[in-house]
Amino acid sequence: MVIQLCQVELADVGHYNYGPGHPMKPHRIRMTNSLLINYGLYSKMDVFRPPRATAEDMTRFHTDEYVNFLKRITPETMSDYTKQLHKFNVGEDCPVFTGLYEFCQISAGGSIDVASAQKLNSGQADIAVNWAGGLHHAKQKEASGFCYVNDIVLGILELLKYHNRVVYIDCDVHHGDGVEEAFYTTDRVMTVSFHKYGEFFPGTGDIRDTGFGLGKNYAVNVPLRDGIDDWSYKSIFEPIIEHVMKWFRPGAVVLQLGADSLAGDRLGCFNLSMKGHANCVKFLKSFNVPLMMLGGGGYTIRNVSRTWTYETALACDTEIDEGKIINLLIFVLPYNEYFEYFGPEYRLDIPPNNMVNLNTREYLEKCKSIIIENLRHTQFSPSVQLQQVPNDLFDESDNEEEDPDKRNTTRQKDQRIVPDEEFSDSDTEENGRFRRKDDANYGDDGAYRPSSSVNKRSTSSRRNRSPDDLPEDSKMETDES
Ligand SMILES: [Zn+2]
Repeated sequence: MVIQLCQVELADVGHYNYGPGHPMKPHRIRMTNSLLINYGLYSKMDVFRPPRATAEDMTRFHTDEYVNFLKRITPETMSDYTKQLHKFNVGEDCPVFTGLYEFCQISAGGSIDVASAQKLNSGQADIAVNWAGGLHHAKQKEASGFCYVNDIVLGILELLKYHNRVVYIDCDVHHGDGVEEAFYTTDRVMTVSFHKYGEFFPGTGDIRDTGFGLGKNYAVNVPLRDGIDDWSYKSIFEPIIEHVMKWFRPGAVVLQLGADSLAGDRLGCFNLSMKGHANCVKFLKSFNVPLMMLGGGGYTIRNVSRTWTYETALACDTEIDEGKIINLLIFVLPYNEYFEYFGPEYRLDIPPNNMVNLNTREYLEKCKSIIIENLRHTQFSPSVQLQQVPNDLFDESDNEEEDPDKRNTTRQKDQRIVPDEEFSDSDTEENGRFRRKDDANYGDDGAYRPSSSVNKRSTSSRRNRSPDDLPEDSKMETDES
C-alpha cells in the first residue's frame, strides 16, 4: 500500500493568522506535522510538496469575480472594497488577513495535487493525505465558515476526470454544505455528511435534503444531536457507508476528517474519542478503494494534531507492523517542539467525556432506515452516464502554453502513465451487460479490485480489469507485475 502525504508549505502555513481570538488556527497543521515527524511516520510515506493552486485552478469551481477579489484584498485595501466584502461574505467569520490568498492557494493546491494524475488518478498512491485541506463550507462565489476556497470540490473535479463516480464523506461536526451544493444535481458524486443538526452552523443538512434532478438521492444527510459517542457513531456510520459503497461503487473516496467532532472541541458538541473518530479511516480503508484524506474543522488544536497524527498512522499501518505503531502512539508522546501543548498527560489519546448523548438508539435507527431506503433508489447506479460537471471541466484547451508553473500542462498530460482506454467514455461489455469503467473494478461479489494492483504502471488496456477477467494464459504475467 502506498501512502502519499502532502506536506504543504509548513514554514508559511503556520504563520497565517485569522486574527486574535479567532478559533481557526492554521498553526495546528504545523503541530500535526511535528508529531508525524517525531513519531517517525515520514519514513512510512512518500512525502511531497504540492504546487500552489493558480487562479485558473480555482475558477474551475469559483467565479472569476470572487477569485479576483480574494487575490486583491488585503487588510490595507479593505476600505476600498466595502461593497465586495459584503457581497462575498468576507470580514467577520472569514476575516481578511495578511497572506489570505496564498493560504487558499496552498490548501487548494494540496487537494488538487493529491487527486491529480500524479497521485490517486494514476494509481501511484492508494491513500493520499492533505491535512491543510477539507475546507468544506466555501461556496462558488462566497466565503463561509472560515473557508474561502473549496479545495474539496476542486479535488473531486480532478478525480472526475478519471473516475465515473466519487463518494465524498464528511465527518466534521458541521454540515458539508459547500461540497453538497456543488454536486447537488449530479449522480456522479454522492455526498454523505454526518453532522450536528438543529440550531447549529450552517443550518443545512436536513435528512430530507437528498439531491435534485439527476442528483436525487445522491446527497445523504445524517442529522445528529449533541453528545454522540463512539458506539452510537459507529452504529450509524458503518451501515450507511457500507450501503453507499455497495450500491454506488465509487472509483475513489474523499474523506473529510474535520476534528471538531471530537470530545472537548472548542466549537463542537459531539463526544467522539480519538479512536472513535479514527474508526472512520479504518472502516473506509477496509474497502481498499483509492482514498483521499483531508482535514477540516477542529478548534482544540492539541486534539486536532493528535487525531490527524493517529489517523495518518492508521493509513500507513501495514500488515507487517500492525499494532506496533498504533500501540506506541497511544502510550508514548515523543518530545516535539510543541510538547507543552500536550500537558498535563502528554499522551496522544483523547478519551470521551461524560456529556449526555442525546442520540437515542430509536432516533439513530429511524435515521438509518430512512437513509437506507433512499439509497435503494440509487441501486444499479453504475449505469450512470457522464454528466456535465461545473465549469465545463472536460473542455480543456489543447493549445495550453508550456508554463511550468501551470498545473496539467500538455507536457505533464503526456507524461501521465495512462493506458489507452483511460480517457475512453465507452462502456465495456462483460457478462452480457455494459459496465462503466469504475464498475469494472468491482467483482460480482461487490468487492473492489483495484486496477492499480493489477497492472499499476502498465500501458496495457487490461488495467481496469481484475485478474479473474483475464484469459488464463495472461494471468501469470499480471500476477508478477
Ligand atoms: Zn466544522
